[in-house]
Amino acid sequence: MSELINIEPLAVEGVMDYHCHCDYSIDAAGTIEEYCHIALKRNLAEICFTTHFDSNPYSDGKDNFIRIKGEKVPATVENLEPYVEDVRKTAEKFYLEGLSVKLGLEIGWYEGCEEIVAKVQDRYDFDYLLCGIHEIDNICFCCHSSFEKYFSQYSATQAVEKYYRQVNFAAKTKLFNTIAHFEYYLKYGLGFYGEEILKAHKPFLEEIFQTLKETKTGLEINTSALRHGLNHYYPRMEIINAAKKAGVIVDYLGSDAHRPEQVGYDFEVAVALVPDTVHDTNG
Ligand SMILES: [Zn+2]
Ligand SMILES: [Zn+2]
Repeated sequence: MSELINIEPLAVEGVMDYHCHCDYSIDAAGTIEEYCHIALKRNLAEICFTTHFDSNPYSDGKDNFIRIKGEKVPATVENLEPYVEDVRKTAEKFYLEGLSVKLGLEIGWYEGCEEIVAKVQDRYDFDYLLCGIHEIDNICFCCHSSFEKYFSQYSATQAVEKYYRQVNFAAKTKLFNTIAHFEYYLKYGLGFYGEEILKAHKPFLEEIFQTLKETKTGLEINTSALRHGLNHYYPRMEIINAAKKAGVIVDYLGSDAHRPEQVGYDFEVAVALVPDTVHDTNG
C-alpha cells in the first residue's frame, strides 16, 4: 500500500478520528496544532489524541517514555500534565474553527496496569482511554525488532489464544472505552505463520465478544493495517460484522496516525462502517 496520503476533504460531514499520535509519543511526529490543521483540511468534525502511555516495568523493550518539548521523559502520571494541558488549550482554540478536540490516551496493556490507569483517570479525567495490546509475556509482538522472539515460542493458535486472553482481561477491568487495533497480531503474524493464522481466532471470538458486550468495551476500526501492507483493517471486515451482530460497540474509527498527513487515513471508505456515529449534516 502506498504511503501517499491524500489530504483532500472527506465528502461526509461529522467524521471523527479517535486514534492519533502527536509528538508526545516517542514514535510519532507532528504537533497537536499541526494535526488539528490537517483534521480541518480533511473536513473532520472531531479528533482525539491518544498518546502512547507504556508503563510495564517488566517490558522487554523498556521503552516507557513520553516526549515533552523534544525531551524523552519517563511515562509517569505526573509527566502527562503538559500533554493534557496542550490538548485542552488547543481544544479551546480549534473549537471556534469548528473542530472538536478530545483528550485521549493509548494505554499499553499489561496485567497489573490497572492501578496506574486508575490514577491517570483520577487525576486528569480523560475523554477516551484506548487499550493498546502490544505486548504478551512482556514482549512486543507488533515491533519489528521483537515479533520473532514472541512468535517463535508458539504455534499460531497458541500465539493467538494468548492474545485473546489479554483482550479478555483488559475488557474485564472496564477501564477502557475501546480495544485498539483488534487482531493486531496479524501485523507480523501473517508473514510469520502464513495463512493459518487467519483462522486461529475462531475458537475464541464468542467468549471475547460476550465480554466486550457485557463490559461495554468497544472495538475500534483501525485503518493502519493498510499502511502495514495488509489488505484489510484491524480487525478484518468479517470480524467487524460478527462483532456488531454480537452486540459489541463498534463506534470509533482510528487512523493510528503517527504523522499529521495520516489523519483520517482511508476514512473515505471506512466511514461506511460506522454509520451511527457519523451524521451527514447536509442530508
Ligand atoms: Zn497501538
Ligand atoms: Zn496507536
